[in-house]
Amino acid sequence: MKREIMLEGNKIEYTLRENARAKNMRLMVCCEGALTVVAPRWLGIGNIENFIFKKAAWILRKKREMENMRKESLFFQKTEKDYVEHKEDARKLVESKLKELNEVYHFEYNKICIRNQQTRWGSCSSKKNLNFNFRIVFLPEHMVNYLIVHELCHLKEMNHSRRFWKLVSLAVPDCKKVSRELKSM
Ligand SMILES: [Zn+2]
Repeated sequence: MKREIMLEGNKIEYTLRENARAKNMRLMVCCEGALTVVAPRWLGIGNIENFIFKKAAWILRKKREMENMRKESLFFQKTEKDYVEHKEDARKLVESKLKELNEVYHFEYNKICIRNQQTRWGSCSSKKNLNFNFRIVFLPEHMVNYLIVHELCHLKEMNHSRRFWKLVSLAVPDCKKVSRELKSM
């Protein structure tokens, strides 16, 4: 459920996820700066908002950090240091997304490599190795999904034919649109 709250004069939108099994409240700020609040179902909105108020400084700082990070140009302002810093996060993201999205295809692949490349988001080799740019961790989720599915489908179709795009659209119906969006970044 989408909600809004005023924090130190800033109108902050957040997604409230009520979870029957959650014991405590949890806050998450994702790479786009969007705030998600997970709360036990029995808590009630008054308690939830009190908790958010208490964490206002953290939330605002985190949102600023995430937004600044996104504002940096994805390809040109990243250094070897960024690569070292984010490589393992990228690997974890790629591995879990591959597992999730390959439920649709059940393709077999060998190694997963996380690389620091200047121009490419990913590639798929004839030896069935999948390579991804570490910058994938800075992308919004729908773009991550698209990139993962794109390379997965090259395991079957080593081209950009109509058959390839049809395969991609099984898991990402608006793949052409996301592809264009990604090119403009
Ligand atoms: Zn491709």
